[in-house]
Amino acid sequence: VRHSSNKGKLHCNVGTIGHVDHGKTTLTAAITKILSRDGATRFVSYDEIDKAPEERARGITINAAHIEYVTKNRHYAHTDCPGHADYIKNMISGASQMDGAILVVAANDGQMPQTREHLLLAKQVGVEKVVVFINKADLVENDVLELVELEMRELLDDFGFNGLHSPVICGSALLALNGDTSELGENSIWNLLDAIDRYFVIPTRDYTSPFVLPIDNAFTVLGRGTVVIGTLGRGIIKRNMEAELLGFDEEIKTTISDIQVFKKSVPEAKAGDNLGALVRGVRIQSVQRGMLLCAAGSQAIGNHFEANVYFLTKAEGGRSKPVTSKYIQQLFSRTWNVPCRVDLVSGEMLMPGEHGSVYLTLLRRMVMIEGQTFTIRENHKTVGTGIIVKMLK
Ligand code: GDP
Ligand code: MG
Repeated sequence: VRHSSNKGKLHCNVGTIGHVDHGKTTLTAAITKILSRDGATRFVSYDEIDKAPEERARGITINAAHIEYVTKNRHYAHTDCPGHADYIKNMISGASQMDGAILVVAANDGQMPQTREHLLLAKQVGVEKVVVFINKADLVENDVLELVELEMRELLDDFGFNGLHSPVICGSALLALNGDTSELGENSIWNLLDAIDRYFVIPTRDYTSPFVLPIDNAFTVLGRGTVVIGTLGRGIIKRNMEAELLGFDEEIKTTISDIQVFKKSVPEAKAGDNLGALVRGVRIQSVQRGMLLCAAGSQAIGNHFEANVYFLTKAEGGRSKPVTSKYIQQLFSRTWNVPCRVDLVSGEMLMPGEHGSVYLTLLRRMVMIEGQTFTIRENHKTVGTGIIVKMLK
């Protein structure tokens, strides 16, 4: 027995990505089968995974199976989607944030369009680590496996992942699922599990980057000044730090003159803390919900961004007509919303149910960082969901 119970084990979110029919679901089933032997993991059959229940994420219907398993080091939640569209929606809407992705590629096909598309989206949504499983190794000669490995390492580099150090494992999910104990069968699954245990990093709170505090609320304390309220997203905020209040075209310089956590004045607070910050020389009239308080000089506001957007189908509550350039609606992100114009990067239109690259022009300059998600609404209904790729000048 290689594994025991999940008590005290660190939790990690993963998922299988890759081209249709390359073996993502077979691999997912094989992992649970092999780990089920010691009782800490429940075997989930191929059929059970493939008829994944519908779930609603921010008004979008996504078919996704959420499977749990336990390795010697960790407890995993694993997402496998039945169809390509579900992967796109799942990643763009941030419905399940992956700490690492298992990219499945069939040795007899090599990389295919959805291999590339899922890698691109994984990069855009902030997945940092990818482990490659070259599947269907039972169908090809060894030299083909070597070629596919080379090709996949290059592909990882092309998309900004680490082609040199990412683990690449060859095997056969089908053989493993059918109880084959050879190198390509079960052993390949153990190799994969060892690789994800070692290579995927469990996120910890970021205490080292400059602090950011998205503002939920603000009020005036008589005789002292304006206090802004929010949960520190990252970093450490300290009394007397130079700071900036950004958003809605405003860039207000200030100093943190006091910090309060649970109504007590403290010299500093950390990422994850809900706090009030007394901001020197700032009038309550110039602060609004949705602004960002951050370390001076660490963030910039802008109104031109490149993003990836998925437009919901009519059945998902979306539009019935396609979107063309110069489309203007309200964009919602974090705790704010502003009017926004959407222009297509290429092509004439995006149909409901399609996704694509777009340029966003916000009516007010805001802070939007790479990987930040947003929705587009018409008459209080979500019609699109998107993710920021980069800020443009
Ligand atoms: P998905 O669309 O990526 O989830 O792919 P599936 O897991 O549904 O697999 C697609 C087809 O490939 C099925 O018929 C599987 O039985 C077959 N398959 C999966 N893994 C292997 C493998 O290692 N070897 C062979 N020969 N076939 C496989
Ligand atoms: Mg599948």
